[in-house]
Amino acid sequence: MSDPFFTPVSGFDLPRFAGVPTFMRLPHVDFDHPRFGEVDIGIIGAPWDSGTTNRPGPRHGPRQLRDLSTMIRAENGATHIRPFEAANIADLGDVAPNPADIEDSLNRFAIFYKRVKGAGIRPLTAGGDHLCSLPILRGIADAPLGMIHFDSHTDLFHSYFDGTIYTHGTPFRRAVEEGLLDPKRVIQIGIRGTAYDMEDRDFAKSVGIRIVTIDEFFQRGIADVMAEAREIVGQGDTYVSYDIDFIDPAFAPGTGTPEVGGPNAYQALQVVRELAGVNIVGADMVEVSPPFDVGGTTAWLGVSIMFELLCVMV
Ligand code: MN
Ligand code: MN
Repeated sequence: MSDPFFTPVSGFDLPRFAGVPTFMRLPHVDFDHPRFGEVDIGIIGAPWDSGTTNRPGPRHGPRQLRDLSTMIRAENGATHIRPFEAANIADLGDVAPNPADIEDSLNRFAIFYKRVKGAGIRPLTAGGDHLCSLPILRGIADAPLGMIHFDSHTDLFHSYFDGTIYTHGTPFRRAVEEGLLDPKRVIQIGIRGTAYDMEDRDFAKSVGIRIVTIDEFFQRGIADVMAEAREIVGQGDTYVSYDIDFIDPAFAPGTGTPEVGGPNAYQALQVVRELAGVNIVGADMVEVSPPFDVGGTTAWLGVSIMFELLCVMV
């Protein structure tokens, strides 16, 4: 039987538009809460977009994702997994960034996630722009992790604007350099769009990162590509990073750097279901930008993907 404390508030008991909107209507359990030590998976807001190079807004992501997440119910209609009964899941609140200082924010994040990891909690983060993933990895990677990364961009560039090494286009270059990721156990899926040059892809090739372009993704199909992804990461500790711009902007317009010609909303969920069996030590959903998200459609898709992630993490 599941613990009533870790059971989300049901829409049968309190209408979904009422109450304080924690992630998926779960209890808010911060570091000082008496039941913090019982949490298995912590959902964390990362309201920070100081790494953004184009249209901003993901700093407003966690609040919007919390709001839309009140529509999530207990059971996965496709897989019949009931994640809130299978593990103690809680809203750990937000990591507090310094919007005026990138390196200070990176340090604050790393300290926060080290504490989460130290308590044996696996984090599911709602970003935030994609630079958030770097300090999360700094906080949770004791040894180089594998990674399955959904995105239309590799985020493997060396630097922007004449030497700036911390942007949302560089987190995984830094993560490989710092030994947080094992590049031979990293696969990036959905890559497309116009490019400055192939510097990122040349780097990927040089260290052994596997890139699946959107053309290959559609030619081979989801099941085949995801079988390869599972094989590449194997049974070792693996991080899952999901940039909402993996999805076609027709379905997820609320993001800063959209790229046309991507997967639809159904395919966006299906790739996560194919992660069953992967040893996921943490995951994130990043780059949802509410100011560009008319009607909340992007945030709703984002939290639906977060729910699918929980279903394969429990
Ligand atoms: Mn990205
Ligand atoms: Mn992207």
